Amino acid sequence: MARVLIIGAGGVGQVVAHKCAQVDEVFEHITLASRTKSKCDKIAAMLPRKIDTAEVDADDVPQLVKLIEKVKPDLVINVALPYQDLHIMDACLEAGVHYLDTANYEPPEEAKFEYKWQWAYQDKFEKAGLMALLGSGFDPGVTSVFTAHAKKHHFDRMQTLDILDCNAGDHGLPFATNFNPEINIREITANGRYWDNGQWVTTKPLEQKRVFDFPEGIGEKDIYLLYHEELESLSKHFPELERARFWMTFSANYLKHLEVLQNVGMTGIEPVEFHGQEIIPIQFLKALLPDPASLGPLTKGKTCIGNIIRGTKDGKDKIYYVYNICDHQACYREVQSQAISYTTGVPAMIGAKMMLEGKWMKPGVWNLEQLDPDPFMADLNRYGLPWQETWLDQAFQ
Ligand code: NDP
Repeated sequence: MARVLIIGAGGVGQVVAHKCAQVDEVFEHITLASRTKSKCDKIAAMLPRKIDTAEVDADDVPQLVKLIEKVKPDLVINVALPYQDLHIMDACLEAGVHYLDTANYEPPEEAKFEYKWQWAYQDKFEKAGLMALLGSGFDPGVTSVFTAHAKKHHFDRMQTLDILDCNAGDHGLPFATNFNPEINIREITANGRYWDNGQWVTTKPLEQKRVFDFPEGIGEKDIYLLYHEELESLSKHFPELERARFWMTFSANYLKHLEVLQNVGMTGIEPVEFHGQEIIPIQFLKALLPDPASLGPLTKGKTCIGNIIRGTKDGKDKIYYVYNICDHQACYREVQSQAISYTTGVPAMIGAKMMLEGKWMKPGVWNLEQLDPDPFMADLNRYGLPWQETWLDQAFQ
């Protein structure tokens, strides 16, 4: 039985709070803290059991340490924004508690997704006898565990990995992002990048497109190559991979809006002066766009996220596809959130459970693919993200 402090009361924080509250045999005591306490209180009021709430600025390390010392959690679950990762890791070290997040650190002034800043904490966490689990969402997170599962059970050698992230949901609005608009747009408007024979190949944003026929009635969708942070850790931890790529679906309508916003400078991250005040265009855009949390009741349809891996087993070539299908409306019925927040929040709860049950607990800084995939895969089926596996005749080109 453990105590957890969840930081961040956005779309993902709401799901993590719900899922932890459902598993009371592990999460005995829950505190939900964020910059705006009223958001924590609103979530707390939806839950099946009582939790504590608190206000905290997670960029203020002394304030965080004070809160951690008051709450006395065994683990801090960070589902604030990637900008807060290092501050929360510092506070965990100072207060002597374990750490988990769902997205790697990103400096606010530069759209750069790299693990180097967090991997640099390896020695500090190890020496303190504490664990930091990095990227326990869906992608990264479940896609990382899917890769470890494929290697453990289905391949002697993996050659190519393609992660396919499809959101076939429709919220009926002209334009909205499914999670934090600033983080989402920064990710999509950045150059694409993939791992190819020991080096990174850079592509222009959304330059490479394919069409893939997704299972369970989702059907054919356009899918675009993006850089995604798990490519860095997976190519490091599975050096046998000759190629590793990440793909995401976008509708023509979404891309049309994004192109116009980009062309007029609304997605910029550099400050501009407006009526004597400095504003960052993408932050102003965020203020105009629908709050992702408000999409829950509106979104219909499914997500399908999974890995296609080509490799060999017992001398035979194999193409393996492992994926999860998640229904937006079913998520809403269960936790009042759409599937994007759900598919991130459930793995955050499971990662926390793995640590607190001792199945994954070891000092240091770890990505999920470095740990035994079996208990995590079992819990995906148990807690709302069942997975399917199949063998394909054709490789993903
Ligand atoms: P939201 O923007 O909905 O929520 C972020 C929350 O963090 C808000 O409650 C916000 O508070 C709070 N916050 C921001 N800054 C601070 C601060 N300085 N101190 C305290 N709280 C703060 O984001 P999401 O819930 O959609 O995403 C949460 C995280 O999950 C992000 O890091 C995102 O990158 C990650 N993610 C990971 C995915 C994966 O599959 N691995 C997929 C989707 C998201 P306030 O409301 O006051 O602004």
